[in-house]
Amino acid sequence: MKIFNTLTRKKEDFISLEPGKVKMYVCGPTVYNFIHIGNARPMICFDTVRRYFEYKGYDVNFVSNFTDVDDKIIKKAIEEGVDADTISKRYIAECKKDMEAMNVKPATKHPLATEEICGMLDMIQELIEKGHAYQAADGTVYFRTNSFKEYGKLSHKNLDDLQSGFREIKVTGEEGKEDPSDFVLWKPKKDGEPYWESPWCEGRPGWHIECSVMSKKYLGEQIDIHAGGEDLIFPHHENEIAQSESANGKEFARYWMHNGFLNIDNKKMSKSLGNFFTVREIGEKYDLQVLRFFMLSAHYRSPLNFSADLMEASKNSLERILNCTGKLDDLLKNASGEELQDKEQEGKKELDNLVGKYEAAMEDDFNTADGISAIFEIVKLANSTADENSSKVYVSQLRNTIGKLCDVLGIITEKKEEILDSEIEEMIAARQQARKNKDFALADQIRGELLNKGIILEDTREGVKWKRA
Ligand code: AMP
Ligand code: ZN
Repeated sequence: MKIFNTLTRKKEDFISLEPGKVKMYVCGPTVYNFIHIGNARPMICFDTVRRYFEYKGYDVNFVSNFTDVDDKIIKKAIEEGVDADTISKRYIAECKKDMEAMNVKPATKHPLATEEICGMLDMIQELIEKGHAYQAADGTVYFRTNSFKEYGKLSHKNLDDLQSGFREIKVTGEEGKEDPSDFVLWKPKKDGEPYWESPWCEGRPGWHIECSVMSKKYLGEQIDIHAGGEDLIFPHHENEIAQSESANGKEFARYWMHNGFLNIDNKKMSKSLGNFFTVREIGEKYDLQVLRFFMLSAHYRSPLNFSADLMEASKNSLERILNCTGKLDDLLKNASGEELQDKEQEGKKELDNLVGKYEAAMEDDFNTADGISAIFEIVKLANSTADENSSKVYVSQLRNTIGKLCDVLGIITEKKEEILDSEIEEMIAARQQARKNKDFALADQIRGELLNKGIILEDTREGVKWKRA
């Protein structure tokens, strides 16, 4: 299996630290709002990487954090007049709903920054003792980048260039830094902010330290894969390497994987440009399986452009696969024959070839686009060779293979349970009652359950209307 490693800028053979096991850490979102479709890209891509390893028989320990203490969370809490904890808990719950709707598997562990402060204090203390960090007069603790000779190795930046670049930028409030390229490990609290006691000052951690600490705690000092969006290469991942390798004295992660950015209509996604979509908004227009299929139709490292046309094309492609599996399911109801017929031998050989083609694509740095093409070739084979006269064994081999290969991509080929109109009406009535009782959490939950079943609600002046997605 080959993986493009950002560290070496090469495709390398994947060799796990422990045979049969993969230890993987993916930087998760900062939770101050519903996740947007850009955040969904690393979730879907690295969930697919995980699923492929599992398909190959690896035991994957997959850790992904939620950053639940951050300036943006505090700002939102102040705007709403609630505490930061209320904001982060709310959006962690919403993010988990979106992940489920996108068929992203829950991580083995989803650590929260606020629950790992003790570990952060320990690592910061260790870095100070080893000379890699220092306390400034105001209590801020900085990492001393000069002390880590390999600083810049991931982003391929040179520390001297970085330092001269930084020198031109004077940041007020950071006068206590020995060098402009040093970064914050711990900072003093400001009025009204959440804070923790520490040996240096009452305050809170910088962003980078949480991932070094959580990765070590849940996966050990060395891991196989560390991943996230390409914007994290510098400074976040560069700083994580500096912290972890200075504290532990060994290489942190063997392979660094980064997804390319998702743009909308060829522009950077931004609220001010009005081209910004949350996963929840897209879920009201499309089954989120379509979003997942769309994301995987490009290579994870390429930039990807989101547009209504491309989503329509993905919807049609997905339907072609599901029509085929639906047809095979129908054939299986009446099919018989436990042995391949002579004319099916050829088809079976072709099927095995196409599975090989799919695996070769996935093992070439997770080329899901080519993997999907191989699935389409199997669909074509099934459409042209399976009919009422086919043996059960042949039809079920086709059916199971398409199901298994789609499952690696997180695409569900089993039919959704049909929900009856009367059940929908009952759930809408329960939601109305919940709203009357001002139990908005329950009302939202019912709306979410209906959405998962493919039912979209619209609150209009004439009352609630619904339609099937
Ligand atoms: P954040 O909450 O900003 O830390 O982002 C969480 C994850 O989403 C990180 O891995 C980011 O790199 C990734 N991400 C954010 N925006 C985009 C985007 N437009 N396209 C792809 N990945 C993104
Ligand atoms: Zn991180």
